[in-house]
Amino acid sequence: SVVLEARGVRRVYGRTVAVDGASLSLEPGRITGLLGPSGCGKSTLLRCVAGLEPVDGGEVRAGERLLSAPGVHVPPEGRDVGLVFQDYALFPHLTVAENVAFGLSGRPKAERRERALVQLERVRLAHRADAWPSALSGGEQQRVALARALARDPAAILLDEPFSGLDGPLRTEVREATLSALRAAGKAALIVTHDAEDAMLTSDSLALMEAGKILQTGAPRECFLEP
Ligand code: ADP
Ligand code: ADP
Repeated sequence: SVVLEARGVRRVYGRTVAVDGASLSLEPGRITGLLGPSGCGKSTLLRCVAGLEPVDGGEVRAGERLLSAPGVHVPPEGRDVGLVFQDYALFPHLTVAENVAFGLSGRPKAERRERALVQLERVRLAHRADAWPSALSGGEQQRVALARALARDPAAILLDEPFSGLDGPLRTEVREATLSALRAAGKAALIVTHDAEDAMLTSDSLALMEAGKILQTGAPRECFLEP
């Protein structure tokens, strides 16, 4: 079953065709990598899928439900998605657990904390629940942002360059924590990256993008074997 699907999405800024008829489908428990050089339209496509941008052509749907098409636009909060960005700022005046519980309004306080702790466990940060964000490393903050995205239990998680601000061992650590948390949650995920190694190591399915178009989609190994 498909959770979220882009069909022939097009997005134009003035004379720049940022996304030129791109199609993608996200499935439960499957991590899709969207790989391509800087400026090829990856971020714009993610933003169209997330509902952060309207589309100028094509459509985004969740099964029977039409989310985006020319003249149709369901905003992000009306979509069943969680978002993680490279420099996703945490709320500095809320603790780690409160950050993760943010967005679970309407539920009893004890239940919100319980759900936050479950997600923090998944990113291996339960021991930091009562810390302030400023006391965390960049890699830890990124993991908290993922826990926050998971907390509302969305059908899909969309991550835009989630590892690009990180170097060396920290990058490996965040990549592994992200992967294991997404696997444990069984979510459909889309990871946008310009880094081939990140894409190889995280994706079940890899979409290669260039100049607004998706050139091919397949298992990561297939994508890198030249015919
Ligand atoms: P990527 O994520 O692959 O680096 P982007 O989706 O950010 O690529 O950008 C694709 C193209 O669209 C680039 O040429 C970029 O300059 C342009 N672009 C993206 N967003 C805007 C915008 N808001 N206004 C004008 N041009 C944009
Ligand atoms: P990314 O590659 O992740 O989109 P950018 O720094 O390129 O990161 O873009 C950050 C913001 O600037 C986004 O909202 C994007 O739509 C906008 N943007 C990107 N390129 C342009 C551009 N050429 N003109 C205007 N806005 C742009």
